[in-house]
This record gives sequence, structure tokens and C-alpha cells, in this order.
Amino acid sequence: MAAKFDISFSKSAKISGGLSILLKASDADLAAGAEIADPASVIARAMKIAKFSAKPVSTLDIVAPEGSPAERLIVIGLGKAEELTAHDWLKAGGTAASKIKSVEKATIFIDAPGVDIDAKIAADFALGILLRGYSFDTYKTKKTDDEDKANGKATKVTIITAAAAGATKAFADSEVVADGVNLARDLVNEPPNVLGPVEFAAKAKQLEKLGVEVEILTEREMKRLGMGALLGVAQGSARPPRLAIMQWKGGKAKERPVAFVGKGVVFDTGGISIKPAAGMEDMKGDMGGAAAVTGLMHVLAARKAAVNAVGIIGLVENMPDGNAQRPGDIVTSMSGQTIEVINTDAEGRLVLCDALWYCNDRFKPQFMINLATLTGAVVVALGSVHAGLFSNDDALASRLTEAGLSTSEKVWRMPLGKEYDKMIDSKFADMKNTGGRYAGSITAAHFLKRFVQDTPWAHLDIAGTAMGSPLDEINQSWGSGFGVRLLDRLVRDHYEA
Ligand code: MN
Ligand code: ZN
Repeated sequence: MAAKFDISFSKSAKISGGLSILLKASDADLAAGAEIADPASVIARAMKIAKFSAKPVSTLDIVAPEGSPAERLIVIGLGKAEELTAHDWLKAGGTAASKIKSVEKATIFIDAPGVDIDAKIAADFALGILLRGYSFDTYKTKKTDDEDKANGKATKVTIITAAAAGATKAFADSEVVADGVNLARDLVNEPPNVLGPVEFAAKAKQLEKLGVEVEILTEREMKRLGMGALLGVAQGSARPPRLAIMQWKGGKAKERPVAFVGKGVVFDTGGISIKPAAGMEDMKGDMGGAAAVTGLMHVLAARKAAVNAVGIIGLVENMPDGNAQRPGDIVTSMSGQTIEVINTDAEGRLVLCDALWYCNDRFKPQFMINLATLTGAVVVALGSVHAGLFSNDDALASRLTEAGLSTSEKVWRMPLGKEYDKMIDSKFADMKNTGGRYAGSITAAHFLKRFVQDTPWAHLDIAGTAMGSPLDEINQSWGSGFGVRLLDRLVRDHYEA
């Protein structure tokens, strides 16, 4: 069970027992409310003895003395007041969450001196609590110590701030965003035997409850559309492929949609070009792009975003089999362009090229952004700090970069160029599906670019950020849900009426 929090906001506190949390900027006094939580000024003494300097996300844990209204007191450091960003508030919330998982009730004073707390900040703090509270333990049959103490009950969290009224409203938004991120995390974390293409498509179908129109294309329908590249990947699996098309119509009737396309390889063995055994289990996360698109569509619909948005996910499994495609095979994509399959492990681009072409052809979107755990090469280049960004449109690229900085789901633009494009020309077909080891994430991007025509397009290679990235204050999950907050931010800032 993930930690459960029942969060509310209030202007004033009545503390009787439980845990109290106070925030402190390093260059200001202790938070307002300190005297309520701590009549004997124990905190000031503890800070001095512990040499607590309120560095970002540092904590000081104190057992309250006899006569104090609270049982425990925790001070969370914020760092310098004037340097605080929206992401710092998420991290502060996440740090608070880590301390209150197993307690019955917690009172958190967030009005720190030197800091102007508004409704947005309070809601960001609460979002940090919700994101940190996520854990994936569906398949654990034994409870952890924390769960044992919580005994299935939610922690009652009261956040004390002068901005309580606005915060209560803004918090509805935080819950929606957390739900979308946590949905994406769930999808990535689910084991591949449970989440095949058909099961994933059924998850997408559930967004109908929120007013999303969802169509699921079967193998037969994709064959009729000529999606030979996607189907070539799927043909080695006993589980049939699906293409899910999700439409959220929150904008004006005639407005062209924004479009998001996700790679959904539910498991990638590499196919006949099979991967080494070590670490192959991680390839259950090769659908992280599709998971992010699904999580994003959840957020847009649940918050009734004033935008028309399309989400398309190509769902396949890449298996070696008597019927699997071979290196040397030539397939014809929906665009009519032919592809020589050099390496069956470069399958994500084969799935995406048909999904992108279909998306562009049917919806004529304002832009297309695709997300994919596409290449190991991008992990070599950028680690898990930035996702690789490739784009044919400078305006879209800079908007994504900006959204990345404000959500801390960071992207780094990589180059495109005809010298790279040439590397995927094939002896026998219009192109081949790999350009070799060097510049591997760039040639992969060029492959996709051949299917987007003049539509503004960006490709996010999230192989390093969608899964297995270092755990932090707001994410303790293997599947991070990367991309949901980034793209929701992009839509909010630029594409809503
Ligand atoms: Mn692969
Ligand atoms: Zn793959």
C-alpha cells in the first residue's frame, strides 16, 4: 500500500498530540506557529545544539517535552528564502511526507518568515507530499514497518497557512497532477506478464470515465492502414498489438489539437537481435513513453484543460520467435517508405514511425511530441538528469526547455543535421533502422523525423529518465512518471485558451 494522506488546509492550528512540522529558511527566523508547537522553545535550543543550519531538505527531529501540545517536532530546512523555486516546494513537501507516513496526524506550518506563501506554493508543497507518498507494492504480501504502524489508516495532514482558502482550491489541481504521474508510474512498474498490449489498451480505455474519447485499433485494422513497421515488431509475440487513440476535446471545436505520441513496447527482448540476460527485466519499462502520454491525458481531462489534445500510443511486445522479424527484412511503413531492419532491437522507432504518420495524417495537429525510451546512447550522453530533446522547431524546443526547468523534468536539446540523416540510408530500402553505434540517439531521431513532414515536432528520448533514475525527495519509485508534469506545464503555459 502506498502511504495515504488526507490533506486539508487551515488558517490556524489546534494541536493536541501528533507531529508538528515547521519550515525554516536558512536566512530567516523559525516559522510562524513555532510558539504553538513549542511553548518551551525547545526548538531553538535543539537547533543550536545540533548546529542545524536549515540547508535545503535537511531535517531536525525533536521529541517534544512534557507539556508541549505536540508529541514530536520536526524542522525542515528550506535553504535561502529568496532562492526558492516551485520545485523546491515540491521537495519540501516530499521531505515532510517521508516523516509522516506512519503517524496518525500531522500539523505542518508552512508560513516561514522571509517567504511569501501563496496558494500556489501551498498546493505545490502538498503535491510534493502526494508524489512522495507513492510506492508500488501491489505484489508484496507482507507489510513494511511503516504500513504496520499506519495500519491502513490515512495520515491526517493539516497544512497551516494564511493562504488556506486559495490553497484548498489550488490543491484540487495538485491531486489531479499527482494522479496522472502516479498512473504513469503504475504502468511502468507493472510486470510485463500482467501488462501486455491488450491490458495496456484497456487501461487507456478507462480514461473514458473522465470524458476522453478512446479508440483501440486491433491488428486487423492496423494491417488495413498499412502499418507494416509497427506490425513487423509485433509479429514475434503471441500477444497481439494495439494502437490506442485518446482524444480530449476541451478546446474550441475548430482548433487543431496538440498531439502526444508514445512508444509502448510492453517488453523488449531485442527480438532476434536479442539482448544480453543481465538487466533484461528492466525492459518491462520500455513503454515509459506510452505511460507518460496516458498519464498526461489523464491530467488534461481530469482538470478539464481548455485544449484539444490527442494521445496516441503504439503497444507491442518485441519477442524472438519462429514468426519474429529478422535482420535483413524490409517492411513498408504506413507512409509508404520502406525500411530495412538491420537490428530488431531498434524496434521503438518502427512502432513510432507508423504512430506518428497516422497521427499527422488524421489529426493535422499543431505539433507532435513523441516520448520514447528509445536509445541506450542517450543514457550514455545525458545520464538520468536530462531527457534528450530533438526537434525541427526552435519555438517548440525552447518552450519544452523552459517547461523542463520549471518542473525540474529537464530536457537537453541535441543536434540534428543532414550528415546524421545520411547515416540511415539503406542499400536496399529507403532507410535502415539503425545508423550504427556512433550518434545513436541522433540517428534514431532522424529516423522519426522522416515521418513527421513539416509539422512542428519534438522527440523526447526518455530512456534515462523514465525508469531506474536515482530516487529523490518526490520520487521513490522505479518508474518515475517522467514527462507528465513537463508536458502538462507546456500545455498550461502556451496552449490553453
Ligand atoms: Mn530495443
Ligand atoms: Zn525498445
